[in-house]
Amino acid sequence: MHTNLKAFESHTPGCWPDVDAAQWNDWRWQLKNRIHSLKQLEDLMELTPQERAGTLLSGSKLALAITPHFFNLIDRNDPACPIRRQVIPRLEETHISPQEMADPCGEDGDMVAPGLVHRYPDRVLLLVTDRCASYCRYCTRSRVVSGAGEQELHIDFEAAFRYLEAHTEVRDVLISGGDPLLLSDDRLEGILSRLRSIEHIELVRIGSRVPIFLPQRVTPELCAMLKKYHPLWMSVHVNHPRELTQETREALGRLSDAGIPLGNQSVLLNGVNDNLETMKALVHKLIMCRVRPYYLYQLDLILGSSHLQVPVSKGIEIIEGLRGHTSGYAVPQYVIDAPGGGGKVPINPDYVLYSDAEKTVLRNYEGRTFEYPEKENDQAKCGCCRQ
Ligand SMILES: *Cc1c(COP(=O)(O)O)cnc(C)c1O
Repeated sequence: MHTNLKAFESHTPGCWPDVDAAQWNDWRWQLKNRIHSLKQLEDLMELTPQERAGTLLSGSKLALAITPHFFNLIDRNDPACPIRRQVIPRLEETHISPQEMADPCGEDGDMVAPGLVHRYPDRVLLLVTDRCASYCRYCTRSRVVSGAGEQELHIDFEAAFRYLEAHTEVRDVLISGGDPLLLSDDRLEGILSRLRSIEHIELVRIGSRVPIFLPQRVTPELCAMLKKYHPLWMSVHVNHPRELTQETREALGRLSDAGIPLGNQSVLLNGVNDNLETMKALVHKLIMCRVRPYYLYQLDLILGSSHLQVPVSKGIEIIEGLRGHTSGYAVPQYVIDAPGGGGKVPINPDYVLYSDAEKTVLRNYEGRTFEYPEKENDQAKCGCCRQ
């Protein structure tokens, strides 16, 4: 399956030839038929010894779950497949490096009510569920998501809502988890309408990988419900161009048609998207899906993630290869979520070679040098001219 990185393919029904279209397109069927055991995996594909050992151990760390839709994107003949590296556990997950942490972004320290993280001046993160449609092996919240038992988290959000009512400086609420789109339409609507009853909240955002793992969940009914709560924005999470299938493109289109501006957050991952060619194909496909690349994240220092870590210099090189070379809308902001709770810090190639009160010396994307003079003022003038 050496596919054209640019094509929007469909891999339906792939490994499930006997399933009819109605079932396949039913998101509940997709969830019920997720791959979550070693046996199910091995019935469908040959695992490497590292994957086999990692899968045996996954229950105690971060549950294994892959929707049939997403499983079909795996190239089962390629042990280095960029899709399988994201969702199939590996033995390397048990190698804990000294710099790794259970809570690498220090979210617990900024938790002001159950599920509510208030770090930045005017916006908060609200974690509404611990479940996802499939589990990314590099999950930044693996300390709280999935649980081996897959029990639904019943958080009482009343304390969070009361905090938000009292904190008039909060104008932006980011709903995340887990994946908020795994809640029923009614539960999600309960949260959205409660937030919308708070006058000072201007923007509501949802972070979700459901359009990629489970595009069937993006039903016309869900979109009709969401559009009642505008301005509502959404960030999705795509790392490799092959994840943008025909079905996902259509699901993203339904969200866009409901007036929801879409952004994408990618994580820079070793063996998945750590080269310019892949990243360029990804951002171009995102634009075709009406999704604006928003952030490219340096991998958080999650326990057992070093096999997926990429040097920061590589991330900078990729951004340099995009900026100026392609549409500005297609270039994400590269960020490091500073370990220990510093928040997101933008990481940029250096385009300013020199700057003082009189001029700034720049280089452009081709490496050519230019000078931008400041307007003249007395202070900037030298002593002899002033006389
Ligand atoms: C990422 C994040 C936000 C949102 O940050 P933006 O840069 O506005 O997208 C808010 N709160 C927390 C804790 C976050 O990690």
